[in-house]
Amino acid sequence: MKTGNAVYGRCDCGHVWPVVYLPMRLDQAAKVMSRSACPKCGNAKDIKLAKAEEIAASMTEIDSRADGGADIVTKHTNIKA
Ligand SMILES: [Zn+2]
Repeated sequence: MKTGNAVYGRCDCGHVWPVVYLPMRLDQAAKVMSRSACPKCGNAKDIKLAKAEEIAASMTEIDSRADGGADIVTKHTNIKA
């Protein structure tokens, strides 16, 4: 899965996750973002856009992902190549 054009959200609990992948029609993207809830704690309020450093920090959490973060590992491999 391509991750480069994702819009990341950040919850008050500190969790950062891709809320929507672009390109997507803007009205649909806005709908998805407005309905988004934290997949870690369920909080649906105060979801902020994640900053670049917060997204980078979240990449270190891949071990806790059910799928092992396969898409992120691929991305990191591409950067080193
Ligand atoms: Zn949360």
